[in-house]
Amino acid sequence: MGEHTCRACRGQDGQLVLDLGEQPACDYFPGSDDPGPDPVYPLQMWLCAACGLAQLVADPTVPEEPRGAEPAALTAQAADAVARAAAAGVLTPGARVAEFGSPHGGSWLGQLLQRGLAPVAPDARADVVLDCFGLMHAADQAAALAERAARLAPGGTLLLQYHALDTIVSHGQWNALRHGHYAYYSTTALTAMLAAVGLSPRRAWDFELYGGTVLLAAARDGDTDALTADDSVPALLARDAAAGVRDPDTLGGLQRDTTAKAQGLRDWLVAERATGRTVLGYGAASRAVALLRWAGVDQTMISAVADASPAKRGLRMPGTDIGVESPDLLAAHPGASVVLFVPDLLPEVRAAYPGVEAAGGRWVDAEALTPSRS
Ligand SMILES: [Zn+2]
Repeated sequence: MGEHTCRACRGQDGQLVLDLGEQPACDYFPGSDDPGPDPVYPLQMWLCAACGLAQLVADPTVPEEPRGAEPAALTAQAADAVARAAAAGVLTPGARVAEFGSPHGGSWLGQLLQRGLAPVAPDARADVVLDCFGLMHAADQAAALAERAARLAPGGTLLLQYHALDTIVSHGQWNALRHGHYAYYSTTALTAMLAAVGLSPRRAWDFELYGGTVLLAAARDGDTDALTADDSVPALLARDAAAGVRDPDTLGGLQRDTTAKAQGLRDWLVAERATGRTVLGYGAASRAVALLRWAGVDQTMISAVADASPAKRGLRMPGTDIGVESPDLLAAHPGASVVLFVPDLLPEVRAAYPGVEAAGGRWVDAEALTPSRS
């Protein structure tokens, strides 16, 4: 590959650790009458040897992703995180708050105002500077973090929430890699990034969201009025070290996971098609896009994908010829096998569409299929 300059420390020493090939923007669903081909861009993760930040290499201009309905899990976690940060004394009534938003929604502002915090004017300093999954959307990580740090009033706390890299690595979550998501933080890398703007992490809280999400509280170096440190950050740094978040070979395991998942899906589809059974998909999720492309799945293997969102009907899975239809599709094909692209929804869809199994069909987790041995 050509030279890549780290989005955080500007170093050029690093390694490509995951390469998903040419992929369409996973949030851009074209109309099913749009014959394509959809524009594709290289989708690659690079690990900086200097600061340890795992990051997206290419920087294509991708269409703004739509704000969908906020998942219940995100809302529940926000309430939990707010309660835990408040218990630590970070969110005191009367404190001024500045929130940097994420295109995915998940704002905490409503909850914080209810607790008596007050929003500040744009560019004004705040006692609490909050960023939930927002920072990763900045192509220039150094500039974006500096912008957040500059908003911090003396004694204030910067709260950063992120899907933890050690989770991505240990759970094989290769499909976390997406266009528009420029950074994949370990607490280790974020600590180095914070040091560059004169901040250091003081406390951290762990959540189950996405398999492992961290809320990190940082304050200005030497600020004795700010939140005091406890042993939660050293514990996360130790967990990072154990997971090997700075080791290119460890991160390279994501590439093997990718290949295995795609081969597993493809092998299963080929075998299923050989039985003559209809195969449908469920869940026109952006996370399915890279998997379908990498596995080379087309309409001959999965006839169509059902999705409950009316907004996605009449569209097509990006980078494939597979159309998205309403869940009526399931009833129209009794006895079909249904590949579920959002595994968390399994209990919900089994209950919502009992006809699938009643007619002899079955639900199959797209991410749990393993390659057949020949
Ligand atoms: Zn770096």
